[in-house]
Amino acid sequence: MTNETGRFANVIVDISHEKLDRPFQYRIPDALMGELEVGMAVMIPFGRGDKRIRGYVMEITDRVDYDEAKLKEVDSIVKDGIGAQDDSIRLAWWIRENYGSTMIAALKTVLPVKKKIKQVVKKTIVCKVQTDVAAQKAEEFEAKHQKAKARLMRELAAHPVLPQTLITGKLNVAAQTIQALEKACLIEVQAEEVYRSALPGKLPVSGSKKQLSENQGRIVDSIAVDFSAGIRQTYLIHGVTGSGKTEVYMELIERVIAMGRQAIMLIPEIALTYQTLVRFYQRFGDRVSVMNSRLSAGERSDQYERAAKGDIDIMIGPRSALFAPFGRLGLVIMDEEHEGSYKSESMPKYHAREVAGELCRMKDASLVLGSATPSVETYYRAKKGEIRMYVLRERLAGGQLPKVYVEDLRSELKSGNRSIFSRRLHGLIDDRLEKGEQTMLFINRRGYAGFVSCRSCGHVMKCPHCDVSLSEHTDRYQKISRLVCHYCGYETAGVTSCPRCGSRYILGFRAGTQQIEELLHKEFPTARVLRMDADTTKNKDSYERILSQFADGDADILVGTQMIVKGHDFAKVTLVGILAADMSLHAGDYRAGERTFQLLTQAAGRAGRSALPGEVVIQTYQPEHYAVVHAASQDYEGFYEEEISYRDLMGYPPVAHMMAVLVLSEDALTGAEHARELAEQARRQYNDRRPVIIGPTEAMIGRINDIYRHIFYVKHREYQVLTGIKDALEQMIHARQWSADSVQFDFDPMNHY
Ligand code: ADP
Ligand code: ZN
Ligand code: ZN
Repeated sequence: MTNETGRFANVIVDISHEKLDRPFQYRIPDALMGELEVGMAVMIPFGRGDKRIRGYVMEITDRVDYDEAKLKEVDSIVKDGIGAQDDSIRLAWWIRENYGSTMIAALKTVLPVKKKIKQVVKKTIVCKVQTDVAAQKAEEFEAKHQKAKARLMRELAAHPVLPQTLITGKLNVAAQTIQALEKACLIEVQAEEVYRSALPGKLPVSGSKKQLSENQGRIVDSIAVDFSAGIRQTYLIHGVTGSGKTEVYMELIERVIAMGRQAIMLIPEIALTYQTLVRFYQRFGDRVSVMNSRLSAGERSDQYERAAKGDIDIMIGPRSALFAPFGRLGLVIMDEEHEGSYKSESMPKYHAREVAGELCRMKDASLVLGSATPSVETYYRAKKGEIRMYVLRERLAGGQLPKVYVEDLRSELKSGNRSIFSRRLHGLIDDRLEKGEQTMLFINRRGYAGFVSCRSCGHVMKCPHCDVSLSEHTDRYQKISRLVCHYCGYETAGVTSCPRCGSRYILGFRAGTQQIEELLHKEFPTARVLRMDADTTKNKDSYERILSQFADGDADILVGTQMIVKGHDFAKVTLVGILAADMSLHAGDYRAGERTFQLLTQAAGRAGRSALPGEVVIQTYQPEHYAVVHAASQDYEGFYEEEISYRDLMGYPPVAHMMAVLVLSEDALTGAEHARELAEQARRQYNDRRPVIIGPTEAMIGRINDIYRHIFYVKHREYQVLTGIKDALEQMIHARQWSADSVQFDFDPMNHY
């Protein structure tokens, strides 16, 4: 944390009032000087008169933001003010410091529920008379043709306590009838406030607890022993999908709960909530809840409150579940820790893995990361000994690793095959259609950047300075194409022939799922095809619907983007085709190789999940690329070694760090000028330590919604140098009175701009 010896405190007042959700400055009285800390709850005078309200210290500073003579003094420190909320504010502060954003944005991030929404009232109808009296009353009503009253009394004679919803619903008894019977003292309506459930209606309850394998047991014991000895660490479980990681998570959670603590289970995507929830619910019942954006505001508010009260032990959800207000947090588990969705794409652009690390430090908790293809960051830290790693090698539920073919699209072209399907893939699809087995075809649309590659020799146009692919920008009217680097702005004219082999088959690479679906219909007329991509999954349940259709055998082939790669097991899928591995290889950023390796490995893992053996076809123009080679042989270590030496050589994360500074402006010239001045200011910082500045340049998407976007990157070995530069830029933005949201920071970005 920064300077805590300043004379002024910036305090945010009770944040449930939207309007007051900004810091107000107070003078720190002598008595509290040195006592006050960031995150503390304080009482402050607010508004006219003597009114004192509660607030939270956001910042302690010597910088005067307002007229000093008019500043009021902090009244006192709230003595019992330590609670989840103070922790959240500390965490928000940390996020603000490390990722750069306004405090309000950081606070909103850590407080996913800002307003308490009233609990729902559950009404129950209780019979006030003896069973025989109730039955007798029912007959009397019947005789008087008061059918509804009769129905209700008869039901109550059998079941003296009934939920009101059943009576008004299934029994079709009107509210007036209920009132009348209540007046007659035959029944009583009882009301009770209850929490909304975040769980879907009918979850299977019973499920057997697995006897852990020796390897699984060893991991659990080792981490649990650490935990009871008070050792808190970050652990990595490196194990292929199906190797039993989730069983390990559940056992660990059970142990930690037994020690009186709570756990957060992070999953990369909302779409995976249900399958995770089912397994956890079978084991932990109502002590589990979920928190995600698909819940209603009331459901979210209730889960937040239940978590704060300690009514639940486990919170499952995507990255925002990290902010469940657990008072006794002991364990955070992050499944598929390499997934890009753990990084927030809006301000503050935090990475949930790092925030989880900080949260665990604050709460004295341990962090367990799991993945079949760990992020290069995590593996790097594991190699340095900062993270303790465990390996699970075998699949437990049977099924061997599939056979992988790498098909060279250059030789397909040479022998006259211009189809999007290699001959091998074509033949294997035919074979599966004959056998009645299923095929998944996968295309990675991440490579929208339009890299330019030679279809004869595989040569890819690259930036001479940044060693990432250049992207093609075509002027639609003049038909002139330029090749642009999105890191440094390097530009060169488009090419019409390959600089390496002279072929004229050099072009921007584009292909979509819809196009593939059409081709499939043409080439395999009898095949039943399902498509899953952003277009076909716009509706709320379409994702689950398509997957369950495929699982039920309603289609032979499922075509999709990366969203089909994750999480689901289809017993009858024995063939996986990756149509263009190159799309993600050349996305134009330093993570392209890593992302490709992960996608190929995961996609390959979809084949042969049951007794039937599986085959995988990877189609590519660059069969010799290390990401392809190591994915084909399922060799993580081999991939990592090559990847890390590239990162080291080029000064990319995790060996060094990178900060993207995105400048947004309504006016292109102003934006360019601000970006230039900021980059200049960045260059002046830490002169002795030589930060590298790349850019500024226009962003890849130069304008969105009429807002112009300019970008520059700062690279340095030390993260602190980058946050220092960020602080200097923030001060400059403040001094120039530029709008705080006009500049966005992104540390170790997951994508390029
Ligand atoms: P992961 O999380 O690594 O994908 P899971 O925990 O989901 O792996 O396990 C994969 C499959 O193996 C599941 O069907 C699970 O029920 C089963 N499984 C896991 N551990 C065991 C075990 N010790 N004994 C038997 N089956 C197990
Ligand atoms: Zn060529
Ligand atoms: Zn470049």
